[in-house]
Amino acid sequence: MIPYSDCYIDEEDMREVEEVLRKGYVSSTPKIHEFEDAIAKFTGAKYAISLNSGTSALHACMFAIGIGQGDEVITSPITFAATSNSVLYCGGKPVFADIDAKTYNLDPAVAAEKINGRTKAIAPVHYTGQPCDMDRLMKIAKENGLKVIEDAAHSLGATYKGKLAGTFGDAGMLSFHPVKHITTYEGGMVITNDKEICDKVRLFRSHGITRDRAQMKYTPNEGEEWAGDQVMLGYNYRMTDLQAALGVSQMKKLPKFLKTRREYAAIYNEAFSKLDFVTVPYQLPGTDSSWHLYILKFNAKKLGFGRAETFAKLRKAGVGVWVHYPPVYYSTYYQGLGYKKGSCKNAEGLYDSMLTIPFYPKMSRDDLDFVIKAISSLGR
Ligand SMILES: *Cc1c(COP(=O)(O)O)cnc(C)c1O
Repeated sequence: MIPYSDCYIDEEDMREVEEVLRKGYVSSTPKIHEFEDAIAKFTGAKYAISLNSGTSALHACMFAIGIGQGDEVITSPITFAATSNSVLYCGGKPVFADIDAKTYNLDPAVAAEKINGRTKAIAPVHYTGQPCDMDRLMKIAKENGLKVIEDAAHSLGATYKGKLAGTFGDAGMLSFHPVKHITTYEGGMVITNDKEICDKVRLFRSHGITRDRAQMKYTPNEGEEWAGDQVMLGYNYRMTDLQAALGVSQMKKLPKFLKTRREYAAIYNEAFSKLDFVTVPYQLPGTDSSWHLYILKFNAKKLGFGRAETFAKLRKAGVGVWVHYPPVYYSTYYQGLGYKKGSCKNAEGLYDSMLTIPFYPKMSRDDLDFVIKAISSLGR
């Protein structure tokens, strides 16, 4: 079975990790700094702060912009649960606004309707790697005094009007989970131009403890070089140097990964636009997707069978399709919080008809042809 995704790890990556292991543990973490610098350089963000997962990075972002009890954050229901969970971690309330039926991204007009006195932020998700309509979202945020946290887990390297996804709002979050553009196996990053957010995220990821004399709340006695101070409640959300070494090595390959993804997407787009029973991903003008996932919508009426049967047929044919994602509020946990099915019609319609098909740089051209053939033959 060709999986829907896989990471690309080569000998060079393995050597980089091995080198860190051979050096032994010293409390300095050169690879962390190297990886953070590489991400800052690539994205153009002033600050890049590594964490042990994308989820931790989102949690840190919500904390850093001050999300607290009762604060509302507007986001998309078509995302991984971590986006809205990070709001819950801080005591806030995620508010799901429906997606645009064409782009599958947060619809700015619907997001605007959800704003009230308790709204503190918007958290757009650049779903599948296609940037959201950032001009409209940033305008709405500005007019209403809202913060913007971008979930850029899918969109490392994607641009909107030439500017990289993740660099529009107050902060952006990246994930290095194995299926994402580059991997550290687990890992994440916050990117921001805001020094205050950067300082808060750094404290947050390391117990709230600082040794920076300027941040400490008391003055140690002379000679107490070991002195530090816990100035707030933080977590142990740090990335390891092992992971960072893998990240540094993977970053060298990112341009190649992106090129392959864009080439493969063009091949899929051309092949699937010929089929009358699928809808290929629409691209908002001005965006250049990083193509994290390749999603097809299947027309059950034209095929004569529904999504579950399409899923079963393709899996049986060796095509490892999957679904990203059910609307977040469908889960037992969110239902228990009082979220109602039927509240985001476009999101639910997409969920009912879509499948994620195999798509990743390690795939061969033969693999692509295999997938194209299997999907094309569904119509016969
Ligand atoms: C992967 C992902 C996350 C979470 O990142 P982790 O690194 O797995 O914690 C959050 N949001 C989206 C959209 C993701 O795809």
